[in-house]
Amino acid sequence: MVEAFVRLLCPECTKGWQAEPTSLPNHRQNFTCSSCGATRRLAEFMRTERDLDTIKQFE
Ligand SMILES: [Zn+2]
Repeated sequence: MVEAFVRLLCPECTKGWQAEPTSLPNHRQNFTCSSCGATRRLAEFMRTERDLDTIKQFE
């Protein structure tokens, strides 16, 4: 089992962090930033297309 993580970046406050894909909801579901409270679709928190592809593989 390969350990994977994705990099997230909040589009509102620009806070960046990493998370395990299995700990995240579907990329089409809403996700709330733990720093500023902004709620957007999880896909909008993905730092790059590659990070988005990574979480899609775990859905
Ligand atoms: Zn934020």
